[in-house]
Amino acid sequence: MTQFSDLGLAKPLLKALAEKGYKEPTPIQAQAIPVVLQGRDLLGIAQTGTGKTAAFALPILQRLAEDRKPAPRRGFRCLVLSPTRELATQIAENFKAYAVHMGLSVHTIYGGVKYGPQMKALAGGIDVLVATPGRLMDHMAEKSAIVSGTEIFVLDEADQMLDLGFVVPIRKIASQLTKNRQNLFFSATMPSEIGKLAGELLNDPVQVSVAPQATTVERIDQRVLFIEAQRKRPLLAEILAEPGVERTIVFTRTKRGADRVAKYLNAAGIEAASIHGDKTQGQRERALAAFKAGEMRALVATDIAARGIDVNDVSHVINYELPNVPEAYVHRIGRTARKGKDGIAISFCADDERNLLKDIQKATRQTIPAFDRRNDKNLAAAAAVADKLAPPEKYVDPRRADPRNDVPSELRRKRNRNGNRNGGGGQGAQGQAQGRGQGQGQGRGNGQGKPQGQKAAGGGNSFRGPKRPPAPAEKRWSPVD
Ligand code: AMP
Repeated sequence: MTQFSDLGLAKPLLKALAEKGYKEPTPIQAQAIPVVLQGRDLLGIAQTGTGKTAAFALPILQRLAEDRKPAPRRGFRCLVLSPTRELATQIAENFKAYAVHMGLSVHTIYGGVKYGPQMKALAGGIDVLVATPGRLMDHMAEKSAIVSGTEIFVLDEADQMLDLGFVVPIRKIASQLTKNRQNLFFSATMPSEIGKLAGELLNDPVQVSVAPQATTVERIDQRVLFIEAQRKRPLLAEILAEPGVERTIVFTRTKRGADRVAKYLNAAGIEAASIHGDKTQGQRERALAAFKAGEMRALVATDIAARGIDVNDVSHVINYELPNVPEAYVHRIGRTARKGKDGIAISFCADDERNLLKDIQKATRQTIPAFDRRNDKNLAAAAAVADKLAPPEKYVDPRRADPRNDVPSELRRKRNRNGNRNGGGGQGAQGQAQGRGQGQGQGRGNGQGKPQGQKAAGGGNSFRGPKRPPAPAEKRWSPVD
């Protein structure tokens, strides 16, 4: 088995890794670190949870330390672009932890916070800057950031950048970089637009890949529950009330949806908070801290906000609504079963989401065991109570929902201002969700899944709705099985 010391890493880094308790490199680290140390360009196909951040951060720090020189004023020696603030924070925390014995500076720049402190940090020059594209472009326009001196350029989660409409800003930023730079490009999936961007930005790259495209993490126990759209809330409360469902991330498709679900859960006596692009940085950080500390059982998130959330011991992921894009399913469920642990992913599927389920199963090359919870009288009664606890949401057909709902409002406003609404936003999400009819009850998705080894999950339910007698065994599946 390869050791970190076999990869040519310097002593200060090995010391930091030992202090962090990393014993051996992950596959992406073993493949990528020697390549990056040689100064080669890299195309990494890897998703969050594989250790990809250290795969680029460690050799970058080593290269910067081997050739020590002051960072350019208002500039940076290494620029890492991240699609979201959360991921930017996470990446910077990783860099700082690994650089602890090296004396290199690491800063973040993202929207939603004041410009002043960022300008101050930039003024003197930074060794490693982790930035979201929108705010960096603002600083470039103000000349408070000058990117031309960047020696190493990293694009992380490139496929998510595409979904957020960041491809145009990335091209603009890259056009101002010196040609004589090292480029590292990471993406969980490789849609054609991202392949094209990689072709433009990378120079004779070495490609490393740790999981075939859109392959679902094997340790995750996946289930689909067929359910009427308007009964999803009581079903969610029922699952969250089960013992063993300790730390759950619930995914909704829209920011408003996330707020409504969190509100409902709180009204039902289950501590929960929502996290999405319209929340202030402070609100996001508080919600995340409370979730990490185990003070709340459920974090309700949109896809984009969940990027970069690195919380250990997430026992369950619940897809309250299926994502438009199959790749997002893989990202979502990858929030659980981290660091060698097991995890459970439960997806709610309403009738008009059957086509989305079909796409997911096709892309992940699997049939997800399905259980039918439709026509459950107790859930119907609980849904009536739920409507009183928190007003019902208007149900939006997932395929008609606007993917721009999840674009941070700050960016949306800016795009509108610039008259640049066609800048690639939502192409990925929209393109794959279009042009389907209202398919019903087709193929394997007929709701008659075969539950195995389930136990009656009726008791111990703290939801305030009517008590539900145990359902017939063949129709039930317990989330803690
Ligand atoms: P990432 O894929 O970069 O988001 O990393 C996922 C998690 O794995 C983070 O919490 C890292 O701190 C952790 N990690 C990265 N590399 C290693 C390693 N070699 N050994 C143990 N944990 C690691």
